[in-house]
Amino acid sequence: MHRRDPLLDDRPALELETVVCFEPPLEFLPDSFIRPVVDFIVARDDEIDNWPDERIWEELQRRFETHDGFKLKRGPIVQKGITPMHSFVVEPMQYGRLMLAGDAAHIVPPTGAKGLNLAIADVRVLARAFGDFYTTGSRAGLEGYSETCLRRVWKVQRFSWWMTSMLHRFPNEDSFQHQLHLAELDYVTSSRAQATALAENYVGLPFDEPYS
Ligand SMILES: Cc1cc2nc3c(=O)[nH]c(=O)nc-3n(C[C@H](O)[C@H](O)[C@H](O)COP(=O)(O)OP(=O)(O)OC[C@H]3O[C@@H](n4cnc5c(N)ncnc54)[C@H](O)[C@@H]3O)c2cc1C
Repeated sequence: MHRRDPLLDDRPALELETVVCFEPPLEFLPDSFIRPVVDFIVARDDEIDNWPDERIWEELQRRFETHDGFKLKRGPIVQKGITPMHSFVVEPMQYGRLMLAGDAAHIVPPTGAKGLNLAIADVRVLARAFGDFYTTGSRAGLEGYSETCLRRVWKVQRFSWWMTSMLHRFPNEDSFQHQLHLAELDYVTSSRAQATALAENYVGLPFDEPYS
């Protein structure tokens, strides 16, 4: 993961990419999931032509395999692609009157499903700052824009990084790291405290203090 600092630094970001595919309801998902998105990490130089539908289904089946012989119900894959995963933060998110919001200011890996949420959170802060400026003339909100947003941004980066690390295996993972990985999964599925922390971040941190 890379942090870009300051504005307009274009150091290369990250070495991992994801295969993303969409398909009709799977039998283990509720009917409301009309087009679920499934992603897994592949090598940076991999190409989508190496991933015919059959191979994607085999990979998914391998991941969802259970001891009682559960089989995924297969269907057509209507869209698939390799999406480069970037992780970066522009800090600060403002320069004079230039304010960055959303992906222009920060990218998180898709595992935490947080990118759009973070973009909306930025815009909420900015809208309030504009509102204050035009109603009272106060510049405090505009001047504090970056600082306010970055408190949330770094927490969301942390959560997205943690989810990615927990939910994906990495090619260079040694046996020690693999055992830590399994322990992490075991902990999150057996500890109410850890499950609560995951849920708190996953549904979205509160907008106002103390987490902003
Ligand atoms: C595979 C994948 C899955 C994702 N899943 C989730 C998820 O489940 N939950 C979630 O919260 N987020 C998710 N995201 C992230 C989310 O899509 C982005 O974080 C979010 O769209 C960022 O919003 P934005 O407005 O900052 O940027 P964008 O949505 O990228 O909007 C930028 C807009 O600017 C336009 N534009 C670019 N250049 C110019 C120009 N020069 N002139 C005029 N217009 C221009 C673009 O066409 C685009 O419409 C996912 C992303 C990916 C790739």
